[in-house]
Amino acid sequence: MKVVCYRYAQTRRYGVVEDDDVFDGGTSISAVTRGRRVGLLADLHTFAPIINPGKIIAVGLNYRKHAAEAGVEVPGQPILFSKFSTAIVGPGAPITLPELSEEVDLEAELAVVIGRECRGVKSAEALEYVFGYTCLNDVSARDIQRLDGQWTRAKSFDSFCPIGPWIVTSDEIPDPQALGIRSLLNGLVMQDAATSSMVFSVAELIAFAAEAITLMPGDIIATGTPDGVGVGRNPPVFLRPGDVVRVEIGGIGVLENPVVGGV
Ligand code: ZN
Repeated sequence: MKVVCYRYAQTRRYGVVEDDDVFDGGTSISAVTRGRRVGLLADLHTFAPIINPGKIIAVGLNYRKHAAEAGVEVPGQPILFSKFSTAIVGPGAPITLPELSEEVDLEAELAVVIGRECRGVKSAEALEYVFGYTCLNDVSARDIQRLDGQWTRAKSFDSFCPIGPWIVTSDEIPDPQALGIRSLLNGLVMQDAATSSMVFSVAELIAFAAEAITLMPGDIIATGTPDGVGVGRNPPVFLRPGDVVRVEIGGIGVLENPVVGGV
């Protein structure tokens, strides 16, 4: 099931996407059931499928080639950091370049949405706690990352966490390590990889996080980005006003966002 969040009479409702159509699914993401047809997806305004997760846990350097382009060793255990939920925007919403940064970059990532409270789970059972998967762009201000010496502020500017276009429930993604993942900047492929090349699998990441942290329904884990980001290129490529960024994940969908100038 593809679960979308859409605007209806100034409210947010969940819907089920089937081909080009949306069927109403009610107001609770944990109890979505396919109801009456609402209309064509293309005619609806859609929001981020999750707007206020309790936490967004992100993972650094979780693809070997991305660690190589960053010039660092592949980590021996997952590197967790956080993005704040106020950075979330939905499909089609602008990524706003902050005046503080000249080096805003994209990062295509598979995002995991937790479905059930989870603590101390073994990796063999970890996928049972997943509600579904979506695309996430871990937008990052590289100059601020360097300045701060860590990543939270640089990756939490408002609009730096596009997610969507919907959540595909976990029953339709039996193996999250078998998905193609790409990003495109103005139609040009930047990143083109497969989730099979993650250093730590989705199940291992959940188990690692849940050794320390209670994961709650709606929490998001951003599972890291493959190689091809703008900062790793020669010369580097950063986002500019007027750009259009796409994150594509096979079996999930396409998340596209325009880039607008600083405020
Ligand atoms: Zn990232």
